[in-house]
Amino acid sequence: MCVPTKAMIMENASMIISKTTVDNLVIGGGLACSMVAIGLATAGRQMTLLEKKSAASHKVCGEFLSPEAVGYLNQVKINPLDLGAAAI
Ligand SMILES: Cc1cc2nc3c(=O)[nH]c(=O)nc-3n(C[C@H](O)[C@H](O)[C@H](O)COP(=O)(O)OP(=O)(O)OC[C@H]3O[C@@H](n4cnc5c(N)ncnc54)[C@H](O)[C@@H]3O)c2cc1C
Repeated sequence: MCVPTKAMIMENASMIISKTTVDNLVIGGGLACSMVAIGLATAGRQMTLLEKKSAASHKVCGEFLSPEAVGYLNQVKINPLDLGAAAI
């Protein structure tokens, strides 16, 4: 599996005052942005991903993946069954 070339955790992004130039900037490490980041990295593009939270937090969730979502994950070589998911 390909991972973003650079991932940053910024607890308080508004405090950053230095200027940095990046080729591709992905803001947010959720599902949508992670897919974009993996796609860019897989295509060989330099990219930087910014996520404001330093760790994932648990939330009330059905923990269900639709067949459509599984298809998207498979596109980036992620098989939920390999990660402990069970098919229903
Ligand atoms: C209670 C609940 C239950 C759910 N149950 C299911 C389920 O069972 N199955 C399912 O498929 N979906 C479920 N969902 C929906 C699923 O969580 C969302 O569809 C999915 O998380 C959306 O992904 P996303 O990447 O668009 O956004 P998010 O997952 O919200 O990711 C956005 C990310 O961006 C980061 N971010 C935001 N602002 C900034 C900033 N300024 N700088 C840096 N980082 C930033 C956030 O910290 C976050 O990590 C549930 C949602 C909720 C609320």
